[in-house]
Amino acid sequence: MHVGPVNILDRVLYAGLKNNVGFTSQEFVEAFQFSLKKTRELFQVDNTYQPFLIPGGGTSAMESVTSLLKEGEKVLVVTNGVFGDRWVNIFRKYPIKVNVLSTEPGYYVEPETIEKEVKKDKYTLVTFTHVETSTGVRQPIKDSVKAVRDYVDLVVVDGVSSVGAEEVKAKDWGVDVYLTASQKALGVPPGLGILVLSERAMERLKDEKSIAGYYLDLRNWLPVMNSMENGKASYFSTPPVHTILMLSEALKIIIDEEGLESRIKRHEKVASAIRAGIEGMGLEIVAKKPEAYSNTVTGVILKKTNAGNVLSEIVSEGVELAPGVHPKLQGKYFRIGHMGWVTENDAIVTIASIERVLSKLGEDIRLGEGIKATQLYLAK
Ligand code: PMP
Repeated sequence: MHVGPVNILDRVLYAGLKNNVGFTSQEFVEAFQFSLKKTRELFQVDNTYQPFLIPGGGTSAMESVTSLLKEGEKVLVVTNGVFGDRWVNIFRKYPIKVNVLSTEPGYYVEPETIEKEVKKDKYTLVTFTHVETSTGVRQPIKDSVKAVRDYVDLVVVDGVSSVGAEEVKAKDWGVDVYLTASQKALGVPPGLGILVLSERAMERLKDEKSIAGYYLDLRNWLPVMNSMENGKASYFSTPPVHTILMLSEALKIIIDEEGLESRIKRHEKVASAIRAGIEGMGLEIVAKKPEAYSNTVTGVILKKTNAGNVLSEIVSEGVELAPGVHPKLQGKYFRIGHMGWVTENDAIVTIASIERVLSKLGEDIRLGEGIKATQLYLAK
């Protein structure tokens, strides 16, 4: 129950267990081609959007956004945690101007606040984090994009902890770059950054000038994407071949077998069951408003126990949780990741184990009330 990498289906892992697949092999090209097509469905976009699969993960996908920016341009980063702040750390390495709108952990930045800011100044690009993994807070992304769409050239959303588990409609919402990574709700090992770019974003790639470096300049990756989508091998830099074979299998399950809508509903149900359990045992969730609860990550605030002790104890119960990483709440909370292939029974095991461990550590909880609330929710 970590926040990624998450547990992986055997079927997905086996798809990558190949000892003789090179980047020009037919099998790999077909897996790449299939993954590119399914990536469009994943982000709910049509052929006007260009998908990219690049090595790395969330951070490489984020940094590749510099391909769309020119020296001196101004960007606005909307952040409520560690991964929103990562945009600031990335952009500050480049010759552009960066402004930041942030809020306290547990809250999202209100769309009205964002709208006021973009009306005040000329921003080329605005970034959002759909689900802030450090706290589990979900930004109301549709309304946030709406608030800025008329005032900025490019809207970028980090969907690393949302894509595959939350509703994502990149085209309908008018998002220019939506990105994710392989190791989260897609339930694939780490190694891949996954993005879709709108026509408006692609237009910017036609301009040879940008602040991007070499490896993460999407101009270098575009010919590979085009060629692979047409069923022909192409090289810029060696792709993570085996991760792409696994991604292809995962996307087959996600889109063609489980169905995106059912997958999102499953995440919503497991997440709600876990939150019912946490509240049932008498603990507080980091996200302050129910509309900020996410389908993928729940932060749990402890009253007196050190979070590190909970994490080390609970491993012996067979459950791995994630530490709280927001600097303002360090040691005071832990995170439950509920994404990928999670089931209702995972919710049961997680809540039951948390209750036992917290009770042993002397935390002030209502032992048994958490698991009861989870059961009642699931049986509803
Ligand atoms: N954005 C978000 C919301 C994340 O959760 C993460 C990873 N936890 C990243 C970006 C960075 O991804 P990676 O670790 O794959 O570089």
